[in-house]
Amino acid sequence: MHKFLPYIFFLVIISVQGQAPKKLNSAEIDQALKKLNFLGSVLYIAAHPDDENTRLISYFSNEVNARTGYLSITRGDGGQNLIGSELKELLGVIRTQELLAARRIDGGEQRFTRAIDFGYTKTPEESMEIWDKEVVLGDVVWAIRTFKPDVIINRFNHRTSGETHGQHTASALLSVEAFNLANNKDAYPEQLNYTKTFSPTRLYFNTSPWFYGSQDEFDKADKSNFIQFDTGVYFPWNGLSNPEIAALSRSQHRSQGFGSSGSRGSQIEYVELIDGKVPEIKGDIFAGIDTSWNRLKDGAAIGKVLKEVQENYNFRDPSESLPKLIEAYKLINNLEDGYWKNIKKLEIKDIILACSGLYIEALSNVSYSTPNQSIDVKFEAINRSAVPVELSSVSVLPDSPSLESNKVLLNNENWNEKLSYTIPKDAIYTSPYWLNNNSNLGTYVVEDPKMIGLSETPRVTKAIFNLKFYDETISFEKELVYKTTDPVKGEVYQPFEIVPPVVTSFSDKVLIYTNGEPKKIDLIVTANQKDAKGKVSLKAPDTWKIEPKETSFDIKNNAGTATLSFIVTPPKEQSEADLIPEISFEGKVYSNEIIKLDYEHIPLQTLVLPAKSKLVKLDIKKKGELVGYIDGAGDVIPESLEQIGYKVVKINPDDINAASLAKFDAIVLGIRAYNMVDILKFKQTELLKYVENGGTLISQYNTNRGLVLDNLAPYKLELSRDRVTEEDAEVEFLDPQHPVLNTPNKITPKDFENWVQERGLYFSDSWAPEFTPIFSMHDKNEANSNGSLLIAKYGKGHYIYTGLSFFRQFPDAVPGAFRLFANLISIGK
Ligand SMILES: [Zn+2]
Repeated sequence: MHKFLPYIFFLVIISVQGQAPKKLNSAEIDQALKKLNFLGSVLYIAAHPDDENTRLISYFSNEVNARTGYLSITRGDGGQNLIGSELKELLGVIRTQELLAARRIDGGEQRFTRAIDFGYTKTPEESMEIWDKEVVLGDVVWAIRTFKPDVIINRFNHRTSGETHGQHTASALLSVEAFNLANNKDAYPEQLNYTKTFSPTRLYFNTSPWFYGSQDEFDKADKSNFIQFDTGVYFPWNGLSNPEIAALSRSQHRSQGFGSSGSRGSQIEYVELIDGKVPEIKGDIFAGIDTSWNRLKDGAAIGKVLKEVQENYNFRDPSESLPKLIEAYKLINNLEDGYWKNIKKLEIKDIILACSGLYIEALSNVSYSTPNQSIDVKFEAINRSAVPVELSSVSVLPDSPSLESNKVLLNNENWNEKLSYTIPKDAIYTSPYWLNNNSNLGTYVVEDPKMIGLSETPRVTKAIFNLKFYDETISFEKELVYKTTDPVKGEVYQPFEIVPPVVTSFSDKVLIYTNGEPKKIDLIVTANQKDAKGKVSLKAPDTWKIEPKETSFDIKNNAGTATLSFIVTPPKEQSEADLIPEISFEGKVYSNEIIKLDYEHIPLQTLVLPAKSKLVKLDIKKKGELVGYIDGAGDVIPESLEQIGYKVVKINPDDINAASLAKFDAIVLGIRAYNMVDILKFKQTELLKYVENGGTLISQYNTNRGLVLDNLAPYKLELSRDRVTEEDAEVEFLDPQHPVLNTPNKITPKDFENWVQERGLYFSDSWAPEFTPIFSMHDKNEANSNGSLLIAKYGKGHYIYTGLSFFRQFPDAVPGAFRLFANLISIGK
C-alpha cells in the first residue's frame, strides 16, 4: 500500500512539516558547518514525551554537535490533557507533535516504537506484558539498527523496579537488552531485509541525585564509572545558554503543563556506564570512537576540504564558501552508500542552500486534495548570491512530468512557475500511519515494517528542484505546503493533506438509551471534491433497528455537506454496539471521519479515522433533573449526563453563590477544578453553604499538589497519589446497605465490568469520621485503597469526593459508570 515509499525515508532527518521553513542566518550556518564535521551519534531512551532530559539532548546536539535522537517508547497516549479534551490516541498525536516541536528547538531527532502508553503502571512486568515485550523489544532493536548510535543513554535505572512508573523502568530494561541484540543477526532477522546489524559502543544511564533519594546519598556513591559534563554552556551563535534552549524545548509539552524557565550558569549532568567498552579517556563518552571524517573510507579528503571551509568561513558573505562546499558535496556523493553518506548529504545540501541565500518553495493552491484529483503547484526560486545558479528543472513526486527551465537564477531575481499535478489514484492518506489500523491492546499495528518508529507519516507528494552549481547538479526536495495570510497572525503555513473523497461524522459520538424510545441521529457527509454522489447506510447488530436502510447524497461543491437523518431503535435488554456508516462512492466504500487538532504550538493535524458512534441501551433509573457543572481541566461530564436525560447548566465560577445554586439537584466539579480554577478559593464557602442547605456536591479528582485552597471539603479530607491502575481490579463494597449502592440503581459487581484504562486516581488516604468510604480496591500485590469514593452528610446535603475515573469511562459509554453516577446525583432526592 505504501508503494511510493523509498528506502531512504527512515534514514533521513524528518523535516519540519507544514511549518514556516527554517532559514539559517550566517551564525547558524557556521554552527551547521561544525555539525557537518562531527560524525558521531547519541540516542537517548525513555518511555514518554517529557521523560527526556532536554538539557542533555541540546548539549549533545549543539555543543558536542553529535547527531542526537530521542527514542520515546510511547507517544504518551495514556496521560491527562491540560489544554483540551483529547485523550488516548488523539492525545498521543498531540504529544508526538509536541516532541517534534521540542526537537526543532533543541536540535534532536525523534523516534518511537509501536508501544501504546496505556496508563500508569507500578511495575515493568505489567508494562512488558501489555506491550507484548517481544514486539517492543524488536522495535528498540530496529531503532538502534537504523539510527546507529555510537552511544545510548537511558533516562531510567534498569535496576530499581517499583520506584517509578513501571513503563519507565521497562524502557531502561528494553534498552539494556536491545543494546546487545542489535548486533545479533539471529535476533529479529526479518529487519535485516531493510537494514544491517549494528553494535553501539557504549550504554550509559543518565543518573542524578534523584535516583539516590538525596544529595547526601549521591555524594557517597561510587562514581568510578561516571562521566560528568557541565551542560550550562552558552551559545553565542543564538544568544542562549544550553539550559535556556532546554527550557524552551521542554515548554513545548503544553498538554502536560511543563512550561519551564531557563537558567544560566554551570549545570552538571552525570552518566554512568552500564554496558559496552570502558572508555580509555576519562570524561569523554565518545572516547576511542573516531568522530571525524576519517571514520569513513575516502572520508579524509572530505574532512580536509570542509576544515578549510570552516576556517575561512565569512560571516558577511557565506556564499564565498560555495566552491569548496560543492567540491565537498561531490566527494560525499561519491562515497560508498551508507549511513553517514545519507545524513551528511542532507546536511551539506541545507548548508549549500543557505550559503547561496537560495529560497525554494512549492505551494499547493489548496490545503487538501483527494486521490486522482488535480491541484496547482506554484514554484518559487530565488538566488541571493553572486554565484550564478541554474535551475535545470522542477517536478512533483510521484509521477509528474518535469518542467524544464534551464534558467540561470541571477542575484535576487525571482523565478515563479506553475504546474498542474494529479494526485496518484492510489496515494496514501497523510493521516498518522499508526492509526490506520485497529490497535492491539498494547501496541499499534503498522503494516509497512519500514515505517515502524517514524514520528510522522512521510509525505510522498513533494517537489524536486534540480539546481546546478558550477558543473554539479543537485536535487533538493521540498514538501508541498499550503500558505495563507492571516490578518492577525500573518503568514500561516499548513501541511498539504491527502484525504478520502468523502468523509462523515455523527452528530453524537454516543447514543445512550434509558428506555425503548427511538432516537434520531444525524450523519453529516462531507465531500472533499466537487460533484460527489453516492449512497449511505448505517451498520449495527440486528437487534438494533435502523431506518431508513439506505439513503443517498448529491453534493455539488468541494467541502459541501449533506446531513442525513436516521432513526435508531434499541433492543429491550441492556446492550452495547457500534454504529458504523458505509458510504458507497464511485465503486468504493468509505467510512472515515476527519478530526482536526488545531493548537498554536504544533502544525495543524488532520486525522483520518474510522467514523463510529457507540450505541448503549442502559438499564438506568435516576432522580433529580437539573445538574450544575463547573469546568475543570476538561471532561465530557455535561454531554454524558445529558445523554442519560439530565439537564446540565454550566456555572460560571464568578457567579457562584449559595442562593443561585439552590435550584440544582446536584453540582459536579470538572476534573482538577481545585487545581485549575483560582477563583474557587473565594467561592468554596458558597459551595459548602449550598451543600449545607440540602444540595449534593460531587468533586471529581484533584491532584494533591497545587490546590487553590486548603478546605477541599467540609471535613478533613487529604488527597494522596493512590491510584488503582488495573481497570479490572476487583471492587469490594464496604457498606453494601449504603443508599449510593442501592437507589435508584442497585449497583453490583457487574457495574464494574468493561471499565477502561484504570479504576481511578488521586484517591484520598485520610479523612474525617464523617465520611463513609464506599469501595475498597487495589492493584495486584498492593494494599487496599478505600478512598476512591467518600460520602459525607453535611447539614441537610451531601458532599462527595471521588477519584473514580468517570472522565475516562463516559467517552467509552461504560454502563456501570453511568448507573453509579446517577446514584451519586440522586443521593439527596
Ligand atoms: Zn514518563
